[in-house]
Amino acid sequence: MSSCTPTIKRGSRAASPEFARLAAQRRLCREEVAKLLSASQAAEIEAVRAEAERVLLARCGNEVYLRGLVEVSNACARDCHYCGIRKSLTAIPRYTLTADEIVACAQLCAEAGYGSLVLQSGERSDKAFIDLVCTAVRRIRRETRTAVQPEGLGVTLCIGQQSREIYKRLFDAGAHRYLLRIETSNPKLFAAIHPPEQSFQSRVECLGLLREIGYQVGTGVMVGLPGQSIQDLADDILFFRDHDVDMIGMGPYIPHPDTPLGREPCADVAERVRLALVMVAAARLVLRDVNIASTTALQALDPVGREKGLRFGANVIMPQVTPADVRRHYQLYPGKPCLEESAGECQTCLAMRIESAGRKVGYNHWGDSAHARRRLDRRMP
Ligand code: SAH
Repeated sequence: MSSCTPTIKRGSRAASPEFARLAAQRRLCREEVAKLLSASQAAEIEAVRAEAERVLLARCGNEVYLRGLVEVSNACARDCHYCGIRKSLTAIPRYTLTADEIVACAQLCAEAGYGSLVLQSGERSDKAFIDLVCTAVRRIRRETRTAVQPEGLGVTLCIGQQSREIYKRLFDAGAHRYLLRIETSNPKLFAAIHPPEQSFQSRVECLGLLREIGYQVGTGVMVGLPGQSIQDLADDILFFRDHDVDMIGMGPYIPHPDTPLGREPCADVAERVRLALVMVAAARLVLRDVNIASTTALQALDPVGREKGLRFGANVIMPQVTPADVRRHYQLYPGKPCLEESAGECQTCLAMRIESAGRKVGYNHWGDSAHARRRLDRRMP
């Protein structure tokens, strides 16, 4: 076992009958979702967790899908008030991987049996960057074909807001999933944590474009933002449901001291971890068959945060595969885990972590969500 692999305590815990009843309800209104999110006693949290795990296993099975995370570039044209790679932070060295380096990361994923990968970066729309991503996607799909995965690795993009034309070019190059977090579904809070040129409305429109083009669409929020209420978080869950998304990635907000938002007070670490976990469970209970990531931010705040996420209804983990020499320059928040480990060490460590949560790794396939398969099959002629 890798030295960075703590174990998670398991065992039977009493569950609150009131919260168990609520969690088992088939349709939840805003107030009921908010009530679920208020679970704070151990027995209340356990009731919500146990039902979310039950729904997950019944609807999605016990496999955990892996997506190797390649942080393609930390260059960014945006200035989000919370983010450690915002353009105003002129002191951090900016890097962009080459197509060869990105494809080499993809080969590591293919060898490790990860099945798919995520290309994430700061937001840029200049031609050189989009050409680079298109080339990388095309080469990944072609050069990672193997006997066990004849279609090559699945490719998810997470490179921010782009035009319809760019989204379409990237889709045609072979990317089939796209993650664009709404960050918060409360337009006022969105406006408070972004510069005025970034509008809530245009982000929502991007989600529509992605879906129209044919991507499997993922969104998500940061949990525990300064000024965010339980009602806001309940609305976030309903936003995911109403936009019929296929995937969700959300994690605790982590203040970055060099950012404007990082200087504002927010809930303590334990409370942000609790909230992030009950959000995962609530998303599972309301959306049922979507893929939900247990995010790195959870592990940054709790050494067994990602395993806990799996036990609260998540079924995706994104192992780090960014080349180690640039990894430290991609710090959206402080305390990012796995800064020093090699890709191989991360691989062994993750398999142990997944098994410690009683689950199984889904090797060598794309691991699309049951929701996406159901939705996209309906569109076939
Ligand atoms: N430029 C891309 C990728 C952004 S980084 C885009 O706009 O989609 C991916 C996610 O990291 C963001 O969507 C945000 O939710 C999260 N993130 C950024 N700063 C964070 C912080 N300080 N704490 C927690 N999560 C953060």
